[in-house]
Amino acid sequence: MAKILIVEDNALNIKLFCDLLAAHGHQPEAVTDSRNALGAARELRPDLVITDIQLPHVSGLELIRLIRKDEDLAEVPIMAVTAYSAQGDEERIRAAGAQAYVSKPISVVKFAQTVDELLTISSEEPGELPESMANDDDGGGGGGPGEAGGEEV
Ligand code: MN
Repeated sequence: MAKILIVEDNALNIKLFCDLLAAHGHQPEAVTDSRNALGAARELRPDLVITDIQLPHVSGLELIRLIRKDEDLAEVPIMAVTAYSAQGDEERIRAAGAQAYVSKPISVVKFAQTVDELLTISSEEPGELPESMANDDDGGGGGGPGEAGGEEV
């Protein structure tokens, strides 16, 4: 079960996305006013953010950039949903920092598939380098010649 933050101003889409995600065993939470989205994300610490692009106040693109700049949220996967797919849109959305892009009206199958893919990727990704790899000159190797230098009597 994943916590998923939905940022969407259209009530019917919110209902659709929430129903779909709940049917897949996830825990969706929706924000309708994008001005509240960053705060909600900081509080919820979602496993995935799904954001509309055409939003009043803070656009989806701006929101994606804000999330990417936030040190606590920078790694959260983002899926953008947009009604317009003008040329260059997908590039702009990906350049802003979203991993995936689904156009409206959404295909239920594609939507669910994309959610699954993003959740799988993010759970496989190691959060940070293990200490043994980051710091390799001191006590590394693990199975080296025992207590060499460890105890000076
Ligand atoms: Mn919208």
